[in-house]
Amino acid sequence: MTNRRALALPLSTLFALMVWFNQALAADLVLHEALTQVYFSPRGGAQDALVAEIGKARESIFVQAYSFTSEPIISALIQAHQRGVHVEVILDKSQRADKRSGTAAVREAGIHAVIDSKHAIAHNKTMVIDHETVVTGSFNITKSAEEKNAENLLIVRSQDLARLYLEDWKKHRQHTDWQ
Ligand SMILES: [Zn+2]
Repeated sequence: MTNRRALALPLSTLFALMVWFNQALAADLVLHEALTQVYFSPRGGAQDALVAEIGKARESIFVQAYSFTSEPIISALIQAHQRGVHVEVILDKSQRADKRSGTAAVREAGIHAVIDSKHAIAHNKTMVIDHETVVTGSFNITKSAEEKNAENLLIVRSQDLARLYLEDWKKHRQHTDWQ
């Protein structure tokens, strides 16, 4: 069940209530002067843009991913963790058995990476960086997403949007586990 309404309440209050009642989040946002980058695959620069964005992170990166096999992106996340950025990853259950998955690599590096098995597929591909940048779109964290597939990637700088995506991330985080 979704609950769609305008932003009459402060966003944080609205999101907290929706999480409390376990409803899917929805909101109408007007993004004022939100610097946005868009990329289309294949070979449209999405992967490089994402690696660069991760490289600029100063505080935190909260990831939701379906596939998780792109070495440049996984390496960028590990490097961010190693320079002190708080990195947390939620992955689809398919990543338990996928031998190409970077799940083990990020865990060995000390990143908190957990599995969301509550859904048919945990199909989100999102990152919230430093509470102000949202990365979303169809673009999976895979080599194919950059080199072969028809995909899109949006990088949006908006604290309001980041708050919404982070609330959704937290909602999923509540029902994740390590296996
Ligand atoms: Zn979930």
